[in-house]
Amino acid sequence: EKTPVTMLGLGAMGTALARAWLAAGHPLTVWNRNPARAEALAAEGAEVADTVAEAVAANTLIVVCLLDDDSVEEVLGGADLADRDVVNLTTGTPAQARARAGWARERGARYLDGGIMAVPPMIGVPEAGGYVFYSGSRELFERHQETLSVPVGTDYVGEDAGFAALHDVALLSAMYGMFAGAAHAFALIRKEDIDPTALAPLLADWLVAMAPAVHKTAEQLRSGDYTKGVVSNLAMQVAGTPTFLSTAEQQGVSPELLSPYFALMRRRLAEGSGEEDLTGVIDLLVNDRA
Ligand code: NDP
Repeated sequence: EKTPVTMLGLGAMGTALARAWLAAGHPLTVWNRNPARAEALAAEGAEVADTVAEAVAANTLIVVCLLDDDSVEEVLGGADLADRDVVNLTTGTPAQARARAGWARERGARYLDGGIMAVPPMIGVPEAGGYVFYSGSRELFERHQETLSVPVGTDYVGEDAGFAALHDVALLSAMYGMFAGAAHAFALIRKEDIDPTALAPLLADWLVAMAPAVHKTAEQLRSGDYTKGVVSNLAMQVAGTPTFLSTAEQQGVSPELLSPYFALMRRRLAEGSGEEDLTGVIDLLVNDRA
C-alpha cells in the first residue's frame, strides 16, 4: 500500500515531485493557486482539490513546495492542520524553519523541514544524485522516509528544524565561492587567444582535485590544531598573493572577487599564524560577526 500524498504548490519543483509520486503509484491530491497548473497532473491521475482545506483534509502527509515562507503563511494560515504530517520543502532561512515548526506544533501538526539539493530535472532521476536535507521531527522522517525517497534522495540532519535550511545554505554558499573563483579564472583569459572551452575541463578537474581539502579543514576545526598536516602554510600562501593580484592587473581584470579572501589571509598571518593552514580564516569570519 503506497502512502497517499497531498502536494501543495505546483511550480517547477512541486510539479516534478508530484509527477514522481504519481509515477511510483502513490495516490496523490494536488492543489495550486493557479488551477491551470494542475491540469496536466490530473490527466496523469492526480486528484485536484478545489481548496487548500480540501487538499489538507484528503491525506495525513502534506508536502508543501511554495515560493517562499510568506506564501506558506498565505496558503496554510487558515487551514486545519490538526494531526497532519507537514513536510515543508519551501526554501527559507533556519529561523523561518524553526518558527514554522513551532507554528505547526501549535496547530497540532508534526513538522519536517526540507532543503532541496536538486533542480527539477534531477527529480525522479536517482542517478542524477539530487537529495533533500531534512530536519525536525525524527519520528515523522522515519515514518515517511520511504515515500520521501521516491522523488529524490534523503538526508536527515537533526531535530533542530533549522538545520536543513542551514545545511542547504552552507552548501550553496560554498558553490557561490566556487563560481566566483571560476569567474575570475575565465576573466583572466578573456582577452587572450585561449579557448574558454579548452580551459573549462582543466578548471573542472582542478576544482574536483582540490575539493577534498575540506576534509582536512574539518579535522583541523574539530581538533583545534590548524598546523596538523599542513602542506602549504599560510606564510607561503600570503607571499604568493602579489602574483595573483599582479597577474589580474596585467590582464585588466578586477581583483574584487579575490581580494577579500586575501585580506583575511593577511590578517590571520599578522596574528602570528604563518605555520597554519587557511583554516584560521574561518575563525576570523565568525569572530567578526560577534
Ligand atoms: P516556481 O516559481 O516555479 O513556483 C512557485 C509556486 O509557489 C507556484 O506553485 C506558485 O503558485 C506558488 N506561490 C507563490 N506565491 C504564492 C502565494 N502567495 N500563494 C499561493 N501560492 C503561491 O518555483 P519552484 O517550484 O521552482 O520552487 C518552489 C520552491 O522550491 C522554492 O522555495 C524554491 O526555492 C525551491 N527550490 C527550487 C529549485 C529549482 O531549481 N526550481 C531548487 C531547489 C529548491 P502559482 O502557480 O499560482 O503562481
